Amino acid sequence: MATILVPGGAGFIGSHTVIALVNAGYDVVIFDNFSNSKPTVLERLKKILGKNIPFVCGDIRNREQIENVFEQYKIDGVINFAGLKAVGESVKKPLEYYDNNVHGARTLLQVMREYQCHNFIFSSSATVYGEPDSVPLTESSPVKRANSPYGQTKIDIEYMCQELQIAAPEFSMVLLRYFNPVGAHESGLIGEDPKGIPNNLMPYLCQVAVGRLPHLNVFGNDYPTPDGTCVRDYIHVVDLAEGHVAALKHCLNVPGVHIYNLGTGIGYSVLDMVKAFSKAMGRELPYKIAPRRAGDVVQCYADPALAKKELGWSAKKNLDQMAADSYNWQKNNPNGYDD
Ligand code: NAD
Ligand code: UDP
Repeated sequence: MATILVPGGAGFIGSHTVIALVNAGYDVVIFDNFSNSKPTVLERLKKILGKNIPFVCGDIRNREQIENVFEQYKIDGVINFAGLKAVGESVKKPLEYYDNNVHGARTLLQVMREYQCHNFIFSSSATVYGEPDSVPLTESSPVKRANSPYGQTKIDIEYMCQELQIAAPEFSMVLLRYFNPVGAHESGLIGEDPKGIPNNLMPYLCQVAVGRLPHLNVFGNDYPTPDGTCVRDYIHVVDLAEGHVAALKHCLNVPGVHIYNLGTGIGYSVLDMVKAFSKAMGRELPYKIAPRRAGDVVQCYADPALAKKELGWSAKKNLDQMAADSYNWQKNNPNGYDD
């Protein structure tokens, strides 16, 4: 079976994907600099998988460190989760975002080319669609100018992959556009553990649920949506992880550029999320209506038909499971991995 290098494998989506890969029979090497994760994740993965997963501490911007991994292991493919992802922070630190994300991905691709490893899967995002003209979004919906440096790094890396694939047609480039990943592994041992006050809805709900934050601020209830709050396509991280395995099986050693939306195809509002989370907790989650957040897209959800047709993959877990698993993770780890 193939050996897959997973930069960013200690992070939220990466750690869940490592489980899916190992369960599907792949050999995995995790590569991470812990800039947004903790070594505890590796112990938790060992508990879940019953074995140690090879790990290298390093930075994807450091060519020598990546070359050392390729010297040590025969790597067949790379799934790159390593990146900075806070939209607001990226506005304040654009150069750091281009350096970490774009320069990091470029360095990885350079080493891959040097070692004749031609299978690259990239964590892209529905953010590349900007404010959609219409929903649901298909893979051929227009890519729009990003409204943050973070979003622009996703577009830049997508283009870089496409351009390299023209120059080096042996590459299989898989660009996976995630919608809104939430939930956690059913064990409650791994999950999302953002630093500081969360920017995203689900981790914020989790911290309100365990009393770390007093209430949720719902950013705007006067949008042109059924209940006035914004609509997103929330997808369980375990389903998302399985999407990577499906993409790997389908695209490994199939040269070309393969682009897939990974979403459920269902849009839920912020108030739908509050309701589902209250159900998971067994009591009402406190919230207040607050002003709109600048730059928010009104509605964003996927047409997931292409992934179903070509990869044979579709999301299985519903909103109640997403809320229950997120809550279970936070309840068991009120302070995240710091316990
Ligand atoms: P995360 O921060 O939990 O995981 C990223 C991991 O990469 C962390 O473990 C971090 O330490 C590591 N990392 C960052 N820069 C690195 C570097 N230079 N060298 C080595 N390791 C580095 O984030 P996540 O939510 O798991 O997201 C993974 C990827 O998916 C990111 O690229 C993100 O932009 C993308 N994505 C995430 C979402 C989301 O909502 N979570 C949505 C769309 C796309
Ligand atoms: N949201 C909110 N309060 C929060 C965080 C988010 O009302 O504290 C809303 C946000 O305005 C958006 C939705 O929840 O409509 C999803 O936001 P998130 O940042 O999780 O995802 P993104 O907007 O990047 O898709």
